[in-house]
Amino acid sequence: MSDEHWIQTIVIVGGGSAGWMTAAALARGLDRRYCIRVVESQDIGVVGVGEATIPPIRLFNAMLGLDEAEFMRETQATYKLGIRFRDWGAVGQDYFHPFGVYGLNAELGHFFQYWLKLNQEGPHQEGGALALSDYSLCAQAAKAGRFDRQSDDPRDPMSTFGFAYHFDTILYGQYLRRFAQKLGVARTEGEVVQVDQNAETGFVTALRLKSGQVVEGDLFIDCSGFRGLLIEQTLKAGYEDWSDLLPMDRAAAAPCALKGPLSPYTTSTAREAGWQWRIPLQHRVGNGYVYSSRFISDDDAVAALTANLENAPLAEARLLRFNTGRRRKMWDKNVVAIGLSSGFMEPLESTSIHLVQASINKLLQHFPDRSFAPANRDVYNRRIATDMETIRDFLVLHYKATARDDAALWSYVRGMAIPDSLAERIALFEERGQLVIHPDEMFTPTSWLAVLLGQGVRPRSYSPLVAGQDSRAIADGFRNMKALIARRVEAMPNHADYLKHHGMWAAQAAMA
Ligand code: FAD
Repeated sequence: MSDEHWIQTIVIVGGGSAGWMTAAALARGLDRRYCIRVVESQDIGVVGVGEATIPPIRLFNAMLGLDEAEFMRETQATYKLGIRFRDWGAVGQDYFHPFGVYGLNAELGHFFQYWLKLNQEGPHQEGGALALSDYSLCAQAAKAGRFDRQSDDPRDPMSTFGFAYHFDTILYGQYLRRFAQKLGVARTEGEVVQVDQNAETGFVTALRLKSGQVVEGDLFIDCSGFRGLLIEQTLKAGYEDWSDLLPMDRAAAAPCALKGPLSPYTTSTAREAGWQWRIPLQHRVGNGYVYSSRFISDDDAVAALTANLENAPLAEARLLRFNTGRRRKMWDKNVVAIGLSSGFMEPLESTSIHLVQASINKLLQHFPDRSFAPANRDVYNRRIATDMETIRDFLVLHYKATARDDAALWSYVRGMAIPDSLAERIALFEERGQLVIHPDEMFTPTSWLAVLLGQGVRPRSYSPLVAGQDSRAIADGFRNMKALIARRVEAMPNHADYLKHHGMWAAQAAMA
């Protein structure tokens, strides 16, 4: 093949987390033949929120070859063992969505079915129903404010552990920018004011900046955030609106200083017209009220946020607007949208940065040549659409499965029609606790189980495969498992001490 056949210049528009994650990963994953350039405008700035992640981020950082301690210091990061949900299923109710797995043998199917059988039979237990979270190392470590290293040895209880990070998203972008630039990625500062297209094909050929500079390329990656400068404003890919299912459309965000110990988890507290996040970092706590403007005014949302902070806000609340849904085409012609430009489903389960990572992985798998084969593009679009739809269903579950009827938002979401794909999952679970996970799916059985049970969905029976098993022996096994988990957690260091001891604490972090 001649050089004409291959892509030579990749232009990434946007220098938020999506732009620099993409630049860093392409610089690492492609050979030096490619010229990679990021165009970003400091006048426009970045969205500047997005501090909680899920475990696959570790694979992304490892793929880049980042040193974990350096990454944590540079981004003022903390560990995240899951999400504590307060007042979601009902006011006053609390549950934990842990990472890792339930039980100690990493075989969730049987563990959960045994748990169901014991709980439905009842008399084998002292003190009533068995709490599922007693059998999760992550949930128990989170409750105790502790952290320790995960193990690769399947015989070690710590192999059932899992974790992700909370980090300062602006610092993460800057850290990746330095990393990518060291690998040869070029950066152009300036605002794109015009996009040139081939008159026949409509392919993007060049970007014109306010300064008059022209940036040409073969493949353009749109990381321009909600505006979708190339994918929507230029190519008009269209948007599939999911606001009927996910009615949140705004957020008010304000940081404050930490009060109390450094918790290794995100907290999500349901409120009158949405929910509030609390994300502890080394130097501050990130907070935000995500709400639906159909059910509360901006002023009332900001007042509710500031009334519910553990300390005075360190800055005035910032308002962010969004529209839940996805682009109809994430890849059109020679433009691939990654990040907020490809769609957004609200931050409830910290899935946006993960979708950036998933898009980059799939782009590498489907990396085009200059022919931009339509079949390759179509498969990419279908795979990303499926990723987004399974995440959408998981998020919708949190709203649909609630007993709350104390405010208009909660009455609306409880009564709303849901996709058949989600209705089927709930029906299967209600029958006898079956969890059906799709092959490519990001959320694990642990996640579905935690949220289904946490939100009050209860199976009527259990699997016939465990019906004949000796319940007393199972109950003994559960008692031992609970005691072993408690002992293991007791031996773990405190979260902040772990960070300090392993050289992960940033020198300028405010908290001692
Ligand atoms: P942006 O950060 O908006 O970056 C866009 C870039 O494009 C900027 O550099 C801008 O300067 C540039 N640009 C735009 N137009 C032009 C132009 N004309 N010329 C030149 N440059 C241009 N995700 C999570 O995973 N976890 C979370 O906890 C989480 N919380 C969130 C909370 C809220 C309220 C919101 C709204 C989002 C949250 N997200 C979260 C999503 C997360 O913030 C984003 O996915 C992530 O930051 C990537 O953003 P981005 O890079 O796509 O867009």
